[in-house]
Amino acid sequence: MTNCIFCKIVAGEKDASRVYEDEQVLAFLDHHPIRLGHTLVISKNHYETILDIPDNELAYLIQITKKIAGKIMKNLNAKGFRISNNNYRAARQLVPHIHFHIIPVTGDTPLSVTFDRLELTFEHLDDIAKKIRGS
Ligand code: ZN
Repeated sequence: MTNCIFCKIVAGEKDASRVYEDEQVLAFLDHHPIRLGHTLVISKNHYETILDIPDNELAYLIQITKKIAGKIMKNLNAKGFRISNNNYRAARQLVPHIHFHIIPVTGDTPLSVTFDRLELTFEHLDDIAKKIRGS
């Protein structure tokens, strides 16, 4: 896709600090990292979200994500890591090209994650579960 910054990185038209590359997958450091070693793992083929990528390519992408997370743990002496995948702008997907974030925790400061939690009844939860099941 011509205007996609990740496709430009794949094509070598934009710089990136590459961590891993094969025929299907590219991993590089986030230009504005949350933590040192914050890595983005992308499919070389352009798909916008996890709902668009074929299952076999997604399976391979997550396998490589796992492999890189293991290298980050070992080679950066990380104490833990978060893997996240945002889909659509409403969920803060800033680049519309599927990618997984690997955010390592290398220092003593735990990763801060602030989500507002809802307090719901089981009746309400069951209603939502029914909607998701489509039944
Ligand atoms: Zn793209």
